[in-house]
Amino acid sequence: MGGKRSKKPAAPEPDALRRSHEGAAATRAFGAGVAFAGGVVLALVIGAALRHPLPFVAAVAAFFMGVGTVTGILARGRLAACRALLDHERWEPAIVELKRLHGRGGVGDEATYLVALAYDRQGARTLALESYKAYLKRFKRGVWSVEARVRAAELEAAPQVTTRPVEVAVNCPFCKAEVADDAAVVACDGCGTAHHAGCYEEQGGCAVYGCRSTTARARVRG
Ligand SMILES: [Zn+2]
Ligand SMILES: [Zn+2]
Repeated sequence: MGGKRSKKPAAPEPDALRRSHEGAAATRAFGAGVAFAGGVVLALVIGAALRHPLPFVAAVAAFFMGVGTVTGILARGRLAACRALLDHERWEPAIVELKRLHGRGGVGDEATYLVALAYDRQGARTLALESYKAYLKRFKRGVWSVEARVRAAELEAAPQVTTRPVEVAVNCPFCKAEVADDAAVVACDGCGTAHHAGCYEEQGGCAVYGCRSTTARARVRG
């Protein structure tokens, strides 16, 4: 995470990112669905031939396993698309989709954690802290509970107005350009995210998805 970002190539469109991951998952899900459907048909044929109930029980089991496998593959494809969106700093579409995936059993753990990470990477301190806490509340022994706990403690320990280490580029959530050290910068009161002062004015409030704050304070950096 972090690192100096400069001259990055134009980010692909969110829809294209999602299509490539979700399309690959759909292909795999179709293959798995066909395989399970074949198993169900085979079990039904054998059950009819043997006049025995056991193959029918197997057919019902195979049907439900097939449904579970297919929906799992599709959900993991949507999650992979969200990871790609985050890698390209497409925060808003990623968070919207991740929140839809919260309730999916197989991917709910990671989806919930990634929402916190998305806010954290944007520098939306308060929203990140809230989201890490929400994750820890829901997944006490989650896959990312150690990371979430450490990061939540760090965010809680940080002063309200922070200046980030200079080697970490901070991008304005409105125009996506880097917030340079000498720029007029304001920090949102709601989530702590740095904006160019002009961008904040133009947006008429915070530009971070999910933050509705309309007050900010001038931030002195360095
Ligand atoms: Zn800006
Ligand atoms: Zn905000």
